[in-house]
Amino acid sequence: MKLVVDTHTHTLASGHSYSTLQENAIEAGQKGIEAFAMTDHGPSMQGASTLLHFWNLKVIPEFMYGVRIIKGAEANITDYSGTIDIPEECLLRLEFVNASFHDITIEPGTVEEHTNGMINALKNPYVDTISHPGNPVFQVDIDKVVKVAGEYGKLIEINNSSFKVRKGCDSNCMEFLEKCKKYGVRITCGSDAHICYDIGRFDKLKEMLTEVDMPEELVISTSLEKIEAYLKERKASRKAMKKE
Ligand SMILES: [Zn+2]
Ligand SMILES: [Zn+2]
Repeated sequence: MKLVVDTHTHTLASGHSYSTLQENAIEAGQKGIEAFAMTDHGPSMQGASTLLHFWNLKVIPEFMYGVRIIKGAEANITDYSGTIDIPEECLLRLEFVNASFHDITIEPGTVEEHTNGMINALKNPYVDTISHPGNPVFQVDIDKVVKVAGEYGKLIEINNSSFKVRKGCDSNCMEFLEKCKKYGVRITCGSDAHICYDIGRFDKLKEMLTEVDMPEELVISTSLEKIEAYLKERKASRKAMKKE
């Protein structure tokens, strides 16, 4: 399966990553990546940008070096009712929103708390996916999370960096994939690159997709057309949710 869309990348704007958007785009173009989401950390992460960063993303062109740049964010989930640290007036300007737990922005709690926090964040109309949901520090009830993602048309991210930096996440990621396959829930691929060389790096993730024999129609990272179709779908569903 060819994976050419990366929905989780960082730039200098995150404070602890080391490449510019331009460096990321050049590297992506050279690797044959067709699109990536620029998803810098939300403001409650130490050293991250202020909300103005997300407010002003409109100045970025749609394509750079032939690569589609999706304007996004990695919002921090800041409590177990699923609150995120980017307000609606900024969220509505974004094309793709990852939400995630980090132990430097929220104290780990119980499995029940993590599960509720993740599910409530997924129910936020602007959130597209939860980043690194397999992190064992924030263990969740995987079955429950995948079912809610499916119900709300959301994606499950499989995060390639997790295999390196989050010990013990492999079996959780496997279970996420198996449950997504079982319930027909779509997944997205995130490199979580903090330096340009890691953009589109999906080596371990690819092995897992093969191991699970993941149906290609459930993986949205396989073409530009597929991600564009998803972005259109999310726009329509946000509109419908707001009318309710
Ligand atoms: Zn980071
Ligand atoms: Zn990240």
